[in-house]
Amino acid sequence: TISIDGFTAWLDAFRTRVTENKAYLTELDSAIGDADHGSNMARGMAAVMDKVGAAAPSTADELFKTVGMTLVTSVGGASGPLYGTFFLRFGMTAGSVSECDGPALAAALRAGLEGVVARGKAEANDKTMFDAMAPAIDALDSALASGASLADAVAAARDAAAAGRDATEPLVARKGRASYLGDRSAGHLDPGATSTAMLFDALAEVIA
Ligand code: ADP
Ligand code: MG
Ligand code: MG
Repeated sequence: TISIDGFTAWLDAFRTRVTENKAYLTELDSAIGDADHGSNMARGMAAVMDKVGAAAPSTADELFKTVGMTLVTSVGGASGPLYGTFFLRFGMTAGSVSECDGPALAAALRAGLEGVVARGKAEANDKTMFDAMAPAIDALDSALASGASLADAVAAARDAAAAGRDATEPLVARKGRASYLGDRSAGHLDPGATSTAMLFDALAEVIA
């Protein structure tokens, strides 16, 4: 299971990753976007951890409502509303609980992904965060279904997110700013898929 402390550690580990990789994420976004993904994510996650520290929520729905609302309001650009919606839906599905088991975590992640799709209409291979998120959640589901431990299932999700991130490199973007470049968007990793791989990397770190 993962507790509220575990969820908070997940968010903190994600904050650490996007902060340490702020220049890298911005460099990726400078190739096919407007060079702000690293600063957007670092600013957003710093605001999230400030809010979470002050509010000290005790249930998953409260915690992730704070996370989602803070991202929506503190991050301009596409990624704020998209990650914001991800966490809002995640929390609504996890519900008023103080911990989640594997199936509950998987259901919350799936709902988060559906929120991203509802908001951004991305499909597979559009070269977006979807391309890291969807395979990660599929891998989590199949590992849990085959009886893997939660730690092993989350490690499988982490690996699938990284593979999905890498697979965005040759793609031509069909959503977001990068799509304005047409064929010139090929040959670069998608910044949002790269930060999403960090989100699953952080989850695997705290559920080890
Ligand atoms: P902006 O493009 O507004 O500057 P960011 O640079 O912070 O915002 O985020 C860009 C990332 O957002 C992209 O790399 C992509 O992964 C993601 N993204 C953009 N549009 C969509 C969409 N419609 N659906 C899913 N993800 C998207
Ligand atoms: Mg950008
Ligand atoms: Mg921008």
